[in-house]
This record gives sequence, C-alpha cells and structure tokens, in this order.
Amino acid sequence: MKKHIPFGKPVIGKPEIESVNRLLRQPILVHGQQTLSFEEKFSNYVGSRYAVAVSSCTAGMHLSYLALGIKEGDEVIVTSQTHVATAHCIEFVGAKPIFVDCEQKTGNICVESIESKITKKTRAISIVHFVGIPAEMKKIKSLAKKYKLFIVEDCALALGSRINGVHVGLHGDVGSFSFYPVKHITTIEGGMVITNNKKIDDFIRRARSFGYNKKKMKSNLLYDVDLLGYNYRMNEVEAIIGLAQLERLDHFLNKRVENFNYYVSKLEKIKNVHILRNYDLNSISSNYCITLILKKHLSKFRNQIVEELKKLGVGTSIYYPGPVPLFKYYKTKYNLKSRSFPNALCISNQSISFPTGPHIDKSIIDEIVFCINKVFNIFK
Ligand SMILES: *Cc1c(COP(=O)(O)O)cnc(C)c1O
Repeated sequence: MKKHIPFGKPVIGKPEIESVNRLLRQPILVHGQQTLSFEEKFSNYVGSRYAVAVSSCTAGMHLSYLALGIKEGDEVIVTSQTHVATAHCIEFVGAKPIFVDCEQKTGNICVESIESKITKKTRAISIVHFVGIPAEMKKIKSLAKKYKLFIVEDCALALGSRINGVHVGLHGDVGSFSFYPVKHITTIEGGMVITNNKKIDDFIRRARSFGYNKKKMKSNLLYDVDLLGYNYRMNEVEAIIGLAQLERLDHFLNKRVENFNYYVSKLEKIKNVHILRNYDLNSISSNYCITLILKKHLSKFRNQIVEELKKLGVGTSIYYPGPVPLFKYYKTKYNLKSRSFPNALCISNQSISFPTGPHIDKSIIDEIVFCINKVFNIFK
C-alpha cells in the first residue's frame, strides 16, 4: 500500500469543526438546544417515536434494562459473539446473562437455540445485529411474545440496518446506538436510545440525568428527584458534531454498500474463505465492515496474516477477539465451557474484518485485495 489504511477513521471536516467552533463561543454546553435537535433529527431519520441522547451506547443499554425493571434474580438471553458491553449491561443491573452461541453464516444469535434457554426467570432477550447484519427479528419477536419477554437491541454497529424497511432498534422494546469514533457516525463518545414506548423514553430521560423530575414543578429551576439516576448525558459539543455527521449519514452508508459490494466482487473467488453476509432479501445491512472467515489451513495462521497485512499497510480488526462467555470475568463467574460456543469461537479465532468506511474507495480496495492475495499466498 502507498500509505497505511486504518480499519476505521472518522470523517471529520469543515462542518463539524465550524459547528464546534460556533458552539464553544456561546454559554450553554450541556442541557441545551443542540442535544434536543440531535434527538429530534435522529428519531426522524430512523423513524422512532422517541430518541434520547446519552453518553455512550453502554450507558444507553444500562438505562434500558433499568427502564424495563430488570434486576437481580432475572435472566437475560444474550448472544456470545458481541462486544462485552452487551453482557456487562445485564450484569450492571444484577441480572444473569445466559449466553447462546451464534450462527456461523452471519455471526448473529442462533435463534434455534434460544427457546431451550428460557426459564421462569427469563425476562428479556438481548439482540445484537452483528457487524450490521440484521438478526432474525421475526422469529425472535414471536418467541418474545410467546414467553412474554422484552427485547433489547444493541445497534452499535447497525445504524442504517433495516428489516422490511423498519430500522433496527424498533423491532424490540428499545434499541441503543454508539457514536464512538469508528462507528457509522461519531460524536467522539456518545450514544442514542430509541423506542416507541413513552414510559421507557420518560424513564431514560430522567435516569440519564440524576433522576431530576421537573414535570410537576411550576418553575424550570426547580426539580424533584424520584429515582436513582446517573450522569449519562450527552453534552452540547457532542450533539453538534452528531448533527453535522447525521447530515452526511446517507452518503456514508452509500459508500459502505458500494465498498462492501466491490470487495465481494473481488473476493468471491478467493479460496478457503467465507464472507459474512446478510442473506435476508427483506433486510439491509449497515455494512459496518467486511468479515472474512478463514477456512482449512489458513485458519491457523490468522494472527500471522493480520501481522503481515499490517506490515503492508492494511488496517484490520477482529469482531470480536473472544466470545464474551469465554472472557475471564464471565467464564469464571458462571463456569462456562468453550465447547458450548463453537461458532462464536470459530469467528473469534478465524475471522479478519476489513474496512468498508467512507475513508476508502475502489482504488484502495484494489490495493487491499492485492495485499490479501499476496499474504494468503505466503501461507498456501
Ligand atoms: C462499540 C460497541 C458497543 C459500545 O459502544 P459505546 O458507545 O462505546 O458504549 C456496544 N455494543 C457493540 C456491538 C459495539 O460494537
């Protein structure tokens, strides 16, 4: 490669810089108009009734479980192949995560394995749309209905993913997005919770900000506190960056589809590799990245392949470096065994993810694919 291509690179330019510059010259840095307008524009974009800006996706999911009243003694079913935050938020409220293996073809939760894990204590199913590939929500929703369970969606990598035209995050009770630098849009740190449920919106709005309740007060300066809230707000600087990014989201998403499809056309014939893909014709992926699963002899050399690619200037990532139940905290706490999660292990050990973001284009993909072929040949 002519230069190093990072796996993820936020596209920050004049619109973001000028907005921040303007914002910093006025007095309101939190609890202001920018956050309200970011919430309104975001909810219009995804088509939700409500949207609450928070300090991260993790904060949003923590508040979601609190809003649903999930607590100690409850169980929440969760996929194994995800960011640790997905499971941590269940632990935060004292509930127990019940891990289910994923599908090898998509990385999404294995729906067929959910029902056998449901007990009297099960209160919710936590869904992750793996690298933006929408999970099978129709089947999951019917299970949730049958057993009266809530659905919490982790949409951190799924901004732009839709099923039958309906944005992810709206197929369950509540959904959270992340605006961490390498996600689809960034506010540096930040997140958004969407829901169509007024009670959930109302709870999260108060709980993100110490539990202040100004509703029944005659003056806006006065408040009562009726719940144990956190400081999980988004500030005005983050919100104004978010507003500028949201303007460019369609362009970002189009670039990702274009890049993803171009990779596929170039990599389809490559041997001993499986590409993680969305197979559902009724849904669209946010194309967060393109993930290759190395098969046969190549799989043993995954880490070396990553190193060789890095030397050539190709930035990659692993989603995720371990199935969550096999990380020490969970493995020891719940005495979990690796044989229970064969598909998640396969993705953790045998996958490499390549960038699809707006910082790359067809000519860079040509170079990346050239490097992939070159490195794979070393390990032939
Ligand atoms: C990035 C990510 C998170 C965490 O998001 P934060 O905004 O950093 O809290 C959670 N879940 C998934 C699937 C992620 O990829």
